[in-house]
Amino acid sequence: MRADFHPHGIYLPEIELWLDGAGDCPNNWISHGHVDCAGEAQGRVLATAETLEMCGADSARSTATAYGQPLDFRGATLTAWPSSHMLGAAQLLAEYGGERLVYTGGIKLRAPLCGAETSIVPCDRLILEATFGLPIYRFIEREDARRRIVEFAAECLGAGITPVLLGHRLGLGQEIAHVLCEAAIPTAVEAPIARFLPLYERAGYAFSGWTPLEDDGAGGKAIVAGRGARGRREAAAKNIRVAYVSGWASLDNARARAGAEALIPYSGEADFGELTALVEASGARSVDLVRGHAEAFAHILRSRGLDARAAAMDGARGGGEAEG
Ligand SMILES: [Zn+2]
Repeated sequence: MRADFHPHGIYLPEIELWLDGAGDCPNNWISHGHVDCAGEAQGRVLATAETLEMCGADSARSTATAYGQPLDFRGATLTAWPSSHMLGAAQLLAEYGGERLVYTGGIKLRAPLCGAETSIVPCDRLILEATFGLPIYRFIEREDARRRIVEFAAECLGAGITPVLLGHRLGLGQEIAHVLCEAAIPTAVEAPIARFLPLYERAGYAFSGWTPLEDDGAGGKAIVAGRGARGRREAAAKNIRVAYVSGWASLDNARARAGAEALIPYSGEADFGELTALVEASGARSVDLVRGHAEAFAHILRSRGLDARAAAMDGARGGGEAEG
């Protein structure tokens, strides 16, 4: 099955479907809520119900796809499967002409703190996000992340210090807030993260007792905020300690770059070991790698005898250190 890689998205010409396309894409699969699909093409948007809501898709031109429910589309069969990247995130299986193509979008094998766990989907051709495709990236399991988030917050509060936990504003931010609320730790949540909490609540995740973060700080509470919020917090409350929850936290220099005292290397993306395991378990004969360390990871896969290549998508939307 042919796949064309453009700066503004991936295109499957035989079935006229874009994958996470930007701009004028008549039929567009959106893998997860980090992809902005509001106010763009006039065509049809396909995604899970959670993703459609997160990315602000126009409901009149949207088709919600439930996990595991096949959909006939231009002679192909499309099926969404969970990818653990964040609530509602999905891989797309496209079956066409006897061939199975999987586009992962953001994906990991480790269990998420909120959302469905990844199903590994057997395929012939795999298009995989390789954001952390170098052996230096090694992340911790969900239970370790949960424990370290709670311990960090509890220790700070016990010492009269305000804990600030930094995570991506959509995905990890809500997951951190959920963990703290479950542990009955008083929690203040910054507005860009809090605005998505009702969506998570409707999906069955509880957030009891949180309060909106006010500009004058949050004495006696753990603060959940996006990266970059440290400066504002310091101005509001001098006595703080910062923990950074991210895949980037597995790097030695992450402490300085995030301004964090504590690093919790837990991510919505796969680390190197997960990426390698995913490729092997998929059984794919052909692997295209997008984003992040695509070139390096393609080289590593080829050295193991796999047909793998980095897709040329310079300037493609999403990605970068803002995620992960
Ligand atoms: Zn993402």
